[in-house]
Amino acid sequence: MPGVTTLVIEHLDELWPVAGKAPRSGPDQGNHAPILDGAVACAGAAIVAVGTTAEVRQAVQTIAATTIIDGRGRSLVPGLVDGHTHVVYAGDRRDELRRRLAGATYAEIAASGGGILSTVRATRAASEQELAEQTRARLVEMLAAGSTTVEAKSGYGLDVDAEVRMLRVIAALNDEQPIELAATFMGAHEVPPEYRGRQQDYVALVIDRMIPAAAGLAEWCDVFCDRGFFTPEESVSILEAGKRAGMKPRIHADELAASGGPGVAAQVGARSADHLVQVTSEGIADLARTGTVATLLPAAAFFLKLGRFAPARDLIHAGVPVALATDVNPGGGLSPSMPFVMSLACFAMGMTFEEALAAATINGAVSLDRHDRIGSLEPGKQFDAVLVDGPAVNLLRVNAAPIAAVFKKGLQVHARR
Ligand SMILES: [Zn+2]
Repeated sequence: MPGVTTLVIEHLDELWPVAGKAPRSGPDQGNHAPILDGAVACAGAAIVAVGTTAEVRQAVQTIAATTIIDGRGRSLVPGLVDGHTHVVYAGDRRDELRRRLAGATYAEIAASGGGILSTVRATRAASEQELAEQTRARLVEMLAAGSTTVEAKSGYGLDVDAEVRMLRVIAALNDEQPIELAATFMGAHEVPPEYRGRQQDYVALVIDRMIPAAAGLAEWCDVFCDRGFFTPEESVSILEAGKRAGMKPRIHADELAASGGPGVAAQVGARSADHLVQVTSEGIADLARTGTVATLLPAAAFFLKLGRFAPARDLIHAGVPVALATDVNPGGGLSPSMPFVMSLACFAMGMTFEEALAAATINGAVSLDRHDRIGSLEPGKQFDAVLVDGPAVNLLRVNAAPIAAVFKKGLQVHARR
């Protein structure tokens, strides 16, 4: 029924449009404000009007079947976009956590059979159904925390079959639950044990066999370009091979050391460079020059106790559009919550609430190349939104879960119990 108003939410204390079909950067990242006594009207999945309640009431006609929600005492923000996760995996590494907190190093845990390679073993052994089942439970948590679009990577299979299986799980889950998933092939996440000392051979396997197998299943190709993982030269050759197979590039850059990732991003035209805890001023200049989104993952820096966070203020000052993501993963990615990440962005990285909200919505949408459709509340866009108790800044109250409801494609897909 195109054109028929199906849903109106009105009398919202604050409605945050975060308007934009391009990334918000520099002063513009935080230069936006809520509409007071705001309202939004939808026809099916599409937003048809946004404004004050009086404006929206004048602009649209409702019928008896129109759902009308009174938003008094509440606020509405665009659905949160989590542009960097490793949410598909099997196994559980929480036993390592207590050891890590008691002082065990990553190397000690890896030597006793833990770490990422224990996830690789469990993921390789899991069936498609088992992987889907474990991942589905994580997506339920993410939806309840306001995420309506989530990127999901392969990268715990590290052989052709298991990488393809992970990507198939992403495709299946994308069809069967409310969160839209963006699939990323990341065979170059780590060198598997059977290729230790033969990194060149593994890179060749990624390029010659995994990338052709992932083509058509993955929208993006990602590489862990960092000290001890993949070099800038290897990263360029993998990301270029991905491009030839139709996958757009994105990159893990400068998490553990300044290791050339931003230069690789500039060279291959990556849409997003992620982590950037150790980024240099040259790296920031590379990202600013090419308009690459900087996706920051402060929860990863926090849970890994890196002792520092990415220089969000320097990036914003340089005009780099900053996005935020959870980095959900079985090691240091303990939180499925974008509101927690926004809180870290504000209280640990010095971002304003307005900057963090743009980072978690429109700039995340740009990082996933979906900004023509999602990331803001504007007529013509898809209605993905989060209804928050009180003012939207309540999202920063990490454990208070002020999320009353979540909407995807014009439908309420989560309500707080
Ligand atoms: Zn990652």
